[in-house]
Amino acid sequence: MSLLRTRAAVAPLRRRFDDSLTALPSVDALVAVERPEEPMHCLRPAAIAEAAAGFVAGFPGEVLYAVKCNPEPAVLRAVWEGGVRHFDCASANEVALVRAMFPEAGIHFMHPIKARGAIRAAWGEHGVRDFVLDSAAELRKILAEIGAEGQDCAAEGLGLFIRLAMPKGTAMLDLSGKFGAEAAEAAALLRAARPHAARLGLCFHVGSQMMDPLAWRQAMALAGEVIREAGVRVEVIDVGGGFPVAYPGIEPPPLGAFFAEIEASFEALALPGVTLWAEPGRALVAGGGSVVVQVQGRRGRDLYLNDGVYGALSDAGVPGFTFPVRLIRPEGPAPAAQEADFVFFGPTCDSADRMKGPFPLPEDVQEGDWIEIGQLGAYGACLRTAFNGFDRARLVEVRDRPMLEADAEVSLAA
Ligand SMILES: *Cc1c(COP(=O)(O)O)cnc(C)c1O
Repeated sequence: MSLLRTRAAVAPLRRRFDDSLTALPSVDALVAVERPEEPMHCLRPAAIAEAAAGFVAGFPGEVLYAVKCNPEPAVLRAVWEGGVRHFDCASANEVALVRAMFPEAGIHFMHPIKARGAIRAAWGEHGVRDFVLDSAAELRKILAEIGAEGQDCAAEGLGLFIRLAMPKGTAMLDLSGKFGAEAAEAAALLRAARPHAARLGLCFHVGSQMMDPLAWRQAMALAGEVIREAGVRVEVIDVGGGFPVAYPGIEPPPLGAFFAEIEASFEALALPGVTLWAEPGRALVAGGGSVVVQVQGRRGRDLYLNDGVYGALSDAGVPGFTFPVRLIRPEGPAPAAQEADFVFFGPTCDSADRMKGPFPLPEDVQEGDWIEIGQLGAYGACLRTAFNGFDRARLVEVRDRPMLEADAEVSLAA
């Protein structure tokens, strides 16, 4: 996406309820009282903590939360509450945010091409020791910026992770086009990095919302070949993120099926002394966020809303994700029993600000009604822009369950 989406250009989400409130309100109660005319982001801290705890309990290794997916402090707190103690950061700002909130957290700088100043700040100010790279140039950059000339980086605890390129896969959001070293180069980088590293790892990302557990088996087999070819000791295989969640009409296999595939394919490599890591984003937080929007106009089956693809609904635009929706009408006539399929339009003047859905709602939905749009905890609020002056949104914490439940197997594992 070529749009510039700087968070600093956007009004901060304003929190309305304080942590000390144990009995959080429901979404419906808030809408009835507040009648919000700005998009209202509804965070479900209990649901996020539960999803995080389920992942930590089920995954056969260390779990790093991918902060970019939703860096809201309340989300980070909920993920921590669920037992996650490690964070995958990609920028100096993410590193500083996590360090300020959790002095004892493990922070891992998992972006393969970093700003020099970001490396210096992470290493020198925030105690980050793990860095990803996918080229010899980045290895030189990291070693130069942590002042490695003439000093023993391994003794200082440096961790170096080689990002392995993946073939273009079947993920709903393909990530193969940008980062990663091909197998032969990855093996050469493992050898080059080994003398500098206290901890050496190989990592990959199969693509976001990857529905097929076999994608990890194939990636694991490739990782095993690269490690054998490199002929050096490796301490970590990091299987990345990409674990899927439910969306309307999309039911992924339970997370346990992914964990089983990862564990079995890892054991088949028979690599003693190697630890598994994962970097889930979406799977921990998608169900924990929704946005309540207001209908500002209706033309036929087109609904004009106060939020859209330049707001929290980016993935409903070109990527074409559908999200669960429900009508909220605190007073007035009961909604029609009959449903119809609607198309959404956002508030900006760009005709690309259109979400084709379809979104099924009572057929009498009208101006002034509210709609709650669910499964937006991942890649929702963090992609907001200030385009066209629509930069205001509120953040509230609610007690509601996710609008689509996470798979039962892993929830029970918690
Ligand atoms: C985005 C990203 C993640 C998280 O991906 P999800 O699909 O949200 O799980 C993890 N690791 C890296 C390197 C990423 O870029």
